[in-house]
Amino acid sequence: MKKLKFLHSLKFRLFLLVALVGIIPNVVLRAGILATYEKRAISNRSIDVLGQAKMLGNQVVTYNYMKDTSVEMINAQLEQLSNIYDGRVLIINSSFQIVKDTYGLDTGKIIISEEVVKSFQGEEITKYDSQNRYIELAIPLKNTDTKENQGVMLISVSTDSIMLNYDFLKDNALIVELANAIIILVVSLFWSNRLVRPFGKLTKFLEEMQTEEEKKLMISDYTETEAISNAFNEIQGRMRVIDDSRQEFVSNVSHELKTPITSMKVLADSLLNQEDVPVELYKEFMGDIAEEIERENKIINDLLSLVKMDKAAGNLNVSVVNINELLEMIMKRLRPIAEKQNIELVLESFRPVSAEIDEVKLSLALTNLVENAIKYNKPEGWVHVSLNADHKYFFVRIEDSGIGIPEESLEHIYERFFRVDKSHSKEIGGTGLGLAITRNAVLMHRGAIKAHSKEGEGTIFTVRIPLTYIA
Ligand code: ADP
Repeated sequence: MKKLKFLHSLKFRLFLLVALVGIIPNVVLRAGILATYEKRAISNRSIDVLGQAKMLGNQVVTYNYMKDTSVEMINAQLEQLSNIYDGRVLIINSSFQIVKDTYGLDTGKIIISEEVVKSFQGEEITKYDSQNRYIELAIPLKNTDTKENQGVMLISVSTDSIMLNYDFLKDNALIVELANAIIILVVSLFWSNRLVRPFGKLTKFLEEMQTEEEKKLMISDYTETEAISNAFNEIQGRMRVIDDSRQEFVSNVSHELKTPITSMKVLADSLLNQEDVPVELYKEFMGDIAEEIERENKIINDLLSLVKMDKAAGNLNVSVVNINELLEMIMKRLRPIAEKQNIELVLESFRPVSAEIDEVKLSLALTNLVENAIKYNKPEGWVHVSLNADHKYFFVRIEDSGIGIPEESLEHIYERFFRVDKSHSKEIGGTGLGLAITRNAVLMHRGAIKAHSKEGEGTIFTVRIPLTYIA
């Protein structure tokens, strides 16, 4: 099987194509020309002989040669005819008796063949026997005055001289054809090699890429290879971005996970290094350590949610959910936090909405948004959540009277671990993963999320989710 692999190569197929396109017409042409030559030569010879024979036939009748075969002039002409065309002439009388045979073999014999009989009935017969290489002609010998058939002239002429020419032509054509085939094979070998060269370059480049990654692919020999190069470079670029962001993520994760641990170590060490530490200080430090553990826990939980959301959209556990009830539930859960900061929390539903969603994932996403609206608010502020729908989508709008997001940060808020104000966010327990989780959950639902904000005035998040889930 391996040996036959070359049959599938483009090079071999191109070679075959060029070779066949070059050689087949040659073969057909040679066969065609030879066949035409043979046909035309035979037909010309037949016409020549027939013309001569007819003339002679008239004289045979005129001189009444059938009765008297000693007419010198006719005999001489018969002899000449058979000599010129390397043939044999038989004159047969009305009793089917051969009165003259230029070979002198069958004179006096009776001959009843199909041609002779037919010719007696007035038919002129020309027959070519290609196997035995002769033309046979049968001509009725008619008296021009009485129209009476007096006999038949039977002529067979050899086509050896024609076939000699034919064979010569055939041999020459074969030599030309072979020479042609050799040239075509060489040319097709050269071209098939040359035409597939860009693909060799492509393979070489890709092999080299395993060692030096930074190279850009550009093989512009063909429009097709140029398109492949462009597509490849684009994929490579995208992969590089993904790789960079993955590395950044890993380093961010390690950093974020290390921070609480460092704090805990500092707290524990300072307790251990002191003698006679008062119980109050122990309690205070242990309280701080518990807080750090809580933070570490939160980061790990958020990371786990994010990893879950990062998986394929096929992991959605879709069911028909009443969105009004879902939002009411979220509000109810968050109300205590809002009340702690004296923030007014209002839900406005414009219509009843049911949609095909993953309840757990979307509820997490919306909770994050409402929670952020409370967390990044001002004292005595408000959060308005509204629900609306059209025939295709439902829309949740979360508006707050909070601190807002600076314009330059707006495009980064969905990045993992991004926080506008690191210390403030940390103070209120932010991990910088909430919006990344939210955005992934929305995208998994084939939805969209948008943020509008003015620093110091407040922020509006709008989420749009299709009512029916499209897998
Ligand atoms: P965090 O866990 O820090 O809240 P998020 O991913 O939820 O992380 O949000 C990223 C950052 O976006 C936050 O740190 C905050 O600075 C900003 N942000 C998010 N929502 C709001 C909002 N409603 N008002 C102001 N800033 C916000």
